[in-house]
Amino acid sequence: MRCPFCSEEDTKVIDSRLVAEGEQIRRRRECQSCTERFTTYETAELLLPKIIKQNDVRQPFDENKLRGGILRALEKRPVSVEQIETAVSHIKHELMATGEREVSAIRVGEAVMQHLRALDHVAYVRFASVYRSFQDLNEFREEIDKLSAEDVAGLNAESGADQSAEASVD
Ligand SMILES: [Zn+2]
Repeated sequence: MRCPFCSEEDTKVIDSRLVAEGEQIRRRRECQSCTERFTTYETAELLLPKIIKQNDVRQPFDENKLRGGILRALEKRPVSVEQIETAVSHIKHELMATGEREVSAIRVGEAVMQHLRALDHVAYVRFASVYRSFQDLNEFREEIDKLSAEDVAGLNAESGADQSAEASVD
């Protein structure tokens, strides 16, 4: 941190402690150049970043819009409200954790896709087909094949577990 008195960059923390019930950290600093002392308060900035749309317009983050997109993809799919709310809260957390003041709508879309992929493959494909607007059908086909391969791998893992259970009975 730059010294506010002489602008020297090299300042040293001589004391630091939590204040405001642990919400802030107070740091006492000393400038290595002019020896002036000053205090800084550090607070976690847990604001959701603004969303940069494709046309460069910045919009405030809209949780309802996020939820709406997820709900549309999950229409008539066997996924509980609880799971949806967990996904929404994880995505919000991820956005806050970026520490950025602005993030692109594309990045939000990628986060949604990642969560939908884990929740429900049909919803994932629905969302991805609209969102990512696949360049061509082959690309779309590849994505579906990847998902089916995962399903097959999952089934094999399950049957493997059954076999070992039988073996232990013997
Ligand atoms: Zn100084």
